[in-house]
Amino acid sequence: MTAIAPPPSRLWTPERVLVTRSAAERPHGQRVLRRLEAAGVDRVELLPGDRLPSLRGDGGRAAFMAAKNTLALVVPPPSKRRLQPIPPSADWRLDLAEGCPAHCQYCYLAGSLSGPPITRVFADLDEVLDGLDGYVGRGAVTSGTPERGGEGTTFEASCYTDPLALEHLTGGLATMITHFGAHAWSGPVQLRATTKFDDVADLLDLSHGGRTRLRFSLNAASVARRFEGGTSPVAGRIAALGAVAAAGYPVGLTLAPIMPVDGWREEYRALLDAVAAALPAGTDLTVECITHRFTPGSKATLLDWYPRTRLEMDESLRTTKRGRFGSVKHVYPRETMAELRPWFEAAVADRLPQARLLYWT
Ligand code: SF4
Repeated sequence: MTAIAPPPSRLWTPERVLVTRSAAERPHGQRVLRRLEAAGVDRVELLPGDRLPSLRGDGGRAAFMAAKNTLALVVPPPSKRRLQPIPPSADWRLDLAEGCPAHCQYCYLAGSLSGPPITRVFADLDEVLDGLDGYVGRGAVTSGTPERGGEGTTFEASCYTDPLALEHLTGGLATMITHFGAHAWSGPVQLRATTKFDDVADLLDLSHGGRTRLRFSLNAASVARRFEGGTSPVAGRIAALGAVAAAGYPVGLTLAPIMPVDGWREEYRALLDAVAAALPAGTDLTVECITHRFTPGSKATLLDWYPRTRLEMDESLRTTKRGRFGSVKHVYPRETMAELRPWFEAAVADRLPQARLLYWT
């Protein structure tokens, strides 16, 4: 099957770009500036120092939207260079950016990032990539585990952003993929990224060396329609998945967040059928299943961002799970999980027999 990219269905143009002085000096920062110019982004403000202006505004809707439409090109503090484990996805978290221009009403970033929801692109990419050697062979999420040790040392690039949402403006994911493909590593490695976008044209011809697994975050049609504002339509994501698989990438599905909406079996079955039809024979495919959950903090932030949401975040319908350090999260009750999990395991095995189910949570 030849890899042909579907036309991108949605390309973000930020209304405002803020560039710190240190970011403008970095090679990746300069590459991003050239791309922004080529993309016709005209409101680019070069700051005299490294401090971003306050974007809090009055805390109202207009301030929220202004922040969502702002991209900041920054150099993060040196502490960010020390990579952190990111279970259950990967050994290490590797951030290209923080924030996302889309408007998913369940967005997991609501519970993890604080402050106005601007998208910060990190300009120190080259230095970060140069520092990865020391992590190879270390890590406890996939490295050395019986189930996933074959993946090598894994690096997850989409913990705090959607890399493909920004790729046309930054080229950062392509730089990472090329580095992972070409670098002489001391052991097996894998870069991982997941996305709700479909602009994969610039990724198809890269020398990825099979060391990047591109996953597409997919959901039942009614969940995507109601709750995933500003993303590429599911059909576009599936076409992009087929294109990158045809280009030889290992690929994956991130089925998230799974919700037992009315008719969920039919909707998720149709989704898996559409994926099966899009994949070339012999595709290296993984599946990750994440059920919907929320925390007190993420619920408060999401209701602030999307006050009219119809997303179910009712504690009385959920089971409370307590993590270490007393953190609380509200997940589906045991009976719901007992219905969902075996159904998904069987449906994936039936529709996508070549897939490896990495985890259910
Ligand atoms: Fe959040 Fe991902 Fe949606 Fe972006 S695409 S708004 S990161 S859930």
